[in-house]
Amino acid sequence: MKTKDQSREMVCIVCPVGCRLTVTVKDGEASVEGNNCQRGEIYGKEEITAPRRVVTATCSLRDPEHPRLPVRTDTALPVEYIQELLAEIYTLSVPVPVVLGDVLIGNYRETGVNVRAARSVRSRSDEADQVKARI
Ligand code: SF4
Repeated sequence: MKTKDQSREMVCIVCPVGCRLTVTVKDGEASVEGNNCQRGEIYGKEEITAPRRVVTATCSLRDPEHPRLPVRTDTALPVEYIQELLAEIYTLSVPVPVVLGDVLIGNYRETGVNVRAARSVRSRSDEADQVKARI
């Protein structure tokens, strides 16, 4: 699909500098002004043609002490899939133990994006074993 002619102001969110970008689309070609580096150009073009976001959320964890597990995508997902992915994340019920970085949903809709655990949670028996080992 060809992007129609337009011009948009936006702030680059790739790094903390926050350059103010002007992204213009003319005859299907996007150009970026105001960026201090190449990453800003890539961000501006992508934002106007195919925006993506990293998704963070929590899901259910089968552990009475820690009932919620923070999760995040390992790369940015096309925005049109975000609501659907959140609905899927909210149906998860993850058993313990879980390790930071464990893949909970792999290659979502063939996008190459994985949903990963954003923290580790040990099972009670693992914790008890560690306490015994220290005694
Ligand atoms: S254009 Fe480059 S320097 Fe500016 S905010 Fe984006 S990444 Fe940072």
